[in-house]
Amino acid sequence: MKAKKIMAAAMSAVLLLSILSGCGAAKVEKVKGSDDLYVRKVEGLADDFIMDMDLSSVLAEEASGVKYYGYDGKEQDIFLTLAQSGVTHIRVRVWNDPFDADGNGFGGGNCDIDTAVEIGRRATKYGLKLIVDFHYSDFWADPSKQMVPRAWQGMSIEEKTEAAYQYTKECLEKLKAAKVDVGMVQTGNETNAALAGEKTWFNIQYIMQAGARATREVFPEALVAVHFANPETPDRYRSWASKLEYYEVDYDVFATSYYPYWHGTLDNLAGILSEIAETYDKKVMVMETSYAYTAEDTDFNGNTIGEGGEVKGYPFSVQGQTNCIVDIIDTIANKTKNGIGVVYWEGAWITVGTESWEKNHEIWEKYGSGWASSYASVYDPNDAGKYYGGSAVDNQAMFDSEGHPLESLKLFQLVRTGNAVEIKAEAIETSEVVCDVAQKLELPKTVSAVMTDGSKQEIPVEWDVTQAELDKMQNGGVARYEISGTAGGLKARASVSMVKFNYLKSPSFEEGDEGWTITALQPMDQLYVEDKEGDSLSGTKHLHFWNASGKTVEFTAEQTVEGLQSGTYDFTISIMGGDGGTTDIYAYIKQNGQIIAQEPLEITSWKEWHTAHIRIGVLDGEAGLTVGIYVKCSGAGNGAWGKIDDAILNSAD
Ligand code: CA
Repeated sequence: MKAKKIMAAAMSAVLLLSILSGCGAAKVEKVKGSDDLYVRKVEGLADDFIMDMDLSSVLAEEASGVKYYGYDGKEQDIFLTLAQSGVTHIRVRVWNDPFDADGNGFGGGNCDIDTAVEIGRRATKYGLKLIVDFHYSDFWADPSKQMVPRAWQGMSIEEKTEAAYQYTKECLEKLKAAKVDVGMVQTGNETNAALAGEKTWFNIQYIMQAGARATREVFPEALVAVHFANPETPDRYRSWASKLEYYEVDYDVFATSYYPYWHGTLDNLAGILSEIAETYDKKVMVMETSYAYTAEDTDFNGNTIGEGGEVKGYPFSVQGQTNCIVDIIDTIANKTKNGIGVVYWEGAWITVGTESWEKNHEIWEKYGSGWASSYASVYDPNDAGKYYGGSAVDNQAMFDSEGHPLESLKLFQLVRTGNAVEIKAEAIETSEVVCDVAQKLELPKTVSAVMTDGSKQEIPVEWDVTQAELDKMQNGGVARYEISGTAGGLKARASVSMVKFNYLKSPSFEEGDEGWTITALQPMDQLYVEDKEGDSLSGTKHLHFWNASGKTVEFTAEQTVEGLQSGTYDFTISIMGGDGGTTDIYAYIKQNGQIIAQEPLEITSWKEWHTAHIRIGVLDGEAGLTVGIYVKCSGAGNGAWGKIDDAILNSAD
């Protein structure tokens, strides 16, 4: 619904700029602005900075009946729309043979070299270069699997190297014959220490070298890229980069996937890529990224990211998606040494139908437009063969479920100029209100908003809560409530927790004796916080005491709380122990040095806990309140011992 509204606004005011691009390529008019999308200008972007869209599934999508539209609402070649939007490159994965013996496709776009040639041909028509992503597998290759192509099974590493060289060369020659403008070739996809079934660097490097050698021969101008995932583990990146150096692997670009949900901070990304660029004098880039514009699924196949998956500061919205990708572009362009580009992954992989999973499933099976078809079981029986289905990233596309471009798609062009619109609230963060039952409940007057430019502001909020509802929360004792309201025209939410604060520090001695004053009034053999779960009432720690036979135990343990508001409070403390002889044990409350209330306690035997409760009224502004326990054991035959735990001072509500 929202996307439609955005479209209408965009159609009314998009100004188009004519730019002639690419020798022999069709004339492309680039988008010039957006009515309601804020785009931060990234300074110093090189003219040749790579803005790539991976479009591997697009032919299968079109065969499935999916239509793509331009910004004017009319059906239009998606490659033209991308070129208008500032995209400069198209990426396509290539599988050796993603078909079963009967010619049924495994899915994921059934991307063999013929698919890549057609995608490349259409890209080249609009002046877009191609990034060719060889998986050297018959289906998905990623950190969890790098399966050998069936035709290469059983080969020695020498034979496999030759096969990889011949295969790469034949594929690239097909692209060359079709006059496809190949800008970059990947020798493997997310090759985290495995490739084409090889699991040692000694062998992996041969496959990479074979791919590079073929690329240099067929497309000497193209860059050769290696590609890894998981930059959040920089030590692995250091290790892999050093292996590439050790084996003198031929490559130009050290590329990484960067999915903001899983792959660490932008600072970490810039740091590890810069280090590798600097150390080995290489170019670096983000070879895959994406961000959701909605939490909703539209194709009946569950998505990898949904409700609750937001990265802080980037709401799941068209604007949030834009801000996230602009920040990644800025990071690679300005904060990373030798950063040359960013690839947005599968931004057009949208639903093939709106009826049902069953209906879509038929289409995915027939045209390979889902992530996997059931036919993939002949190659990958344990994953694709079991969990085949549709798109898990339709909510991360830059086209809505009907094929209309989202305003966010324009960012690839507008990031060069910036696009200023009035800044307003884009999403409201949920507020947490925690209130002691004895305190006056006050709802916050402002909430924290993520603004369209990505900044944060406190803005006024109106809560939809009546005085009667507020009174009910105030007087309802310990409970939790969810309330909502309105801020900046958006829905605001708060969770209100009415609690009983325990005003004591380290009340169960889990933080040691912090806050406690423990005073031995007779010489004590043992008086300390002990870590022994079996002797604790809760947690693993408690206050332990012991004196050798015949010695009198006498001590106090207490703490003072300042600034309590007027009200009625409860103090509770527990003790267990034995061999006490004649005992004088009590919990107490003191004020101005005088005991104003006390409650007797005793020790009997191991694990027989005795608990004292004292209730007291406190007037506002009174001096600090001291609560504690006094223990005296005398005339004991065996040596008195005991454990003290779980002191609580809270409102009596
Ligand atoms: Ca889906």
